[in-house]
Amino acid sequence: MGAPEAFASTGDITHFIGGRPVAAGERRQPVFNPATGEVTRQVLLGGQAEVDAAVAVAKAAFPAWADTPPIRRARVINEFLRLMNERRDELAAIITAEHGKVFSDAQGEVMRGIDIIEFACGIPQLLKGDYTEQVSTGIDNWTLRQPLGVVAGITPFNFPCMVPCWMFPVAIACGNSFVLKPSERDPSASVFMAGLLREAGLPDGVFNVVQGDKGAVDALIEHPDVAALSFVGSTPIAQSIYERGARFGKRVQALGGAKNHMVVMPDADLDQAVDALIGAAYGSAGERCMAISVAVLVGDVADRIVPRLAERARALRVGNGMDPASEMGPIVAKAALERIEGYIGLGVDEGATLVVDGRGLKVKGHEQGFFTGGTLFDHVTPDMRIYKEEIFGPVLACVRVPDFGTAVELVNAHEFGNGVACYTRDGNIAREFARRIQVGMVGINVPIPVPMAWHGFGGWKRSLFGDMHAYGEEGVRFCTKQKSVMQRWPESTSRGAEFSMPVAK
Ligand code: NAD
Repeated sequence: MGAPEAFASTGDITHFIGGRPVAAGERRQPVFNPATGEVTRQVLLGGQAEVDAAVAVAKAAFPAWADTPPIRRARVINEFLRLMNERRDELAAIITAEHGKVFSDAQGEVMRGIDIIEFACGIPQLLKGDYTEQVSTGIDNWTLRQPLGVVAGITPFNFPCMVPCWMFPVAIACGNSFVLKPSERDPSASVFMAGLLREAGLPDGVFNVVQGDKGAVDALIEHPDVAALSFVGSTPIAQSIYERGARFGKRVQALGGAKNHMVVMPDADLDQAVDALIGAAYGSAGERCMAISVAVLVGDVADRIVPRLAERARALRVGNGMDPASEMGPIVAKAALERIEGYIGLGVDEGATLVVDGRGLKVKGHEQGFFTGGTLFDHVTPDMRIYKEEIFGPVLACVRVPDFGTAVELVNAHEFGNGVACYTRDGNIAREFARRIQVGMVGINVPIPVPMAWHGFGGWKRSLFGDMHAYGEEGVRFCTKQKSVMQRWPESTSRGAEFSMPVAK
């Protein structure tokens, strides 16, 4: 069965368990096209029973898959890579229909997911161990990495293809089996990819999808046969999953929310800085964990840049993501739209200057769509909630600071530490910034510094709970456990027992 059969485009959106779509679960939830506001499908919400079924088939599939030589596992991933490339525009259209982001952005998301699939094809090299000959006379010592068992991934709505791809290609390439619990707001991409994995030759049960919400997540956290949890979503849930997962003896990496700053120095190329801020603040309607939501304007740069940002924010072309003219699509859900517009009201109450107000935007022909325009605040201060909290929408807050040192202190004092950028022409400032900033991913004249597939993704502070970043070599480490083997083939004579700590002889 390939993607077309696994991914039915009508009827309920199903789970995918043991190599086939499974329609089970007593609850269902509407899935919207955010551009029209219409319910397009219903997604089945799994619970304990569906999680039990998926984990059972994943556990059963694990031993044979783990025993499959890495190069043969890599060949399956390589075929999956080929199919993803062949079908990537279909997948991007599915994403736009449920998430709302513009089609070109959805294509970009799919490409960044594909990068990690490509990285996972190199798994034989990545799993190579270390070997030391003759650690003591006649003894050799080596380390190897073995898969964990069943790994579960719980993913957010904002990247329904890319974020699952941060997890499952590496996990299954390492020899694990996998259960994905995607976001219930845009669940179709997961089933589409499940069909392609099967078509690529992945044995049934190695990759499974359980649709659902908190109920399915709780069942995964508590399941004794789930060895590791990889989570991406908002900070309160990331923290709770990290704590509860650890209590249930699991390895956990939990990536949380963000409030990413971009520092603009007075010597920055303003044309580039304006382009960067507009794209990074309003691209994907600000629903990116690496979106820039705070512009830190140093010295006299504020008076020069704010009018230009305002002009560009007002001119944003907002519309259906499938319309090639649209630069920004709708917000994912009505409740999210209301939350974002609520924050804009709060910012006004808190005393920030509302330079551009995106609230109440109506798109012609899409009057029921979940649209808001780009919003720009100036004179935002660190005590305001619109500065402290993640809004996750197209709202850019400008904070004015007198100098570079104050800018660095401001960024470092924030509870989140996902991404950050600095725009400058001064190499020494750039170097000092990269060294002193307490943030996991840093861009110098790069607004959204999402690391490439082989570098690994992860924030600092309350943007990541756990030790290991996603994908890259840290992803491989997260998905495997190290074993050290020390071996001797002694001459056939007994030497007698040793009672002191063995040392090199
Ligand atoms: P979310 O936290 O609401 O949901 C994430 C996942 O957790 C979903 O699968 C959801 O079904 C599940 N979930 C929701 N409530 C739960 C609960 N009470 N208990 C257990 N599971 C629950 O996040 P979202 O709104 O889908 O995504 C946006 C958030 O994700 C933002 O905060 C954004 O910054 C963050 N994010 C972070 C990164 C990163 O790399 N740090 C990347 C993408 C998104």
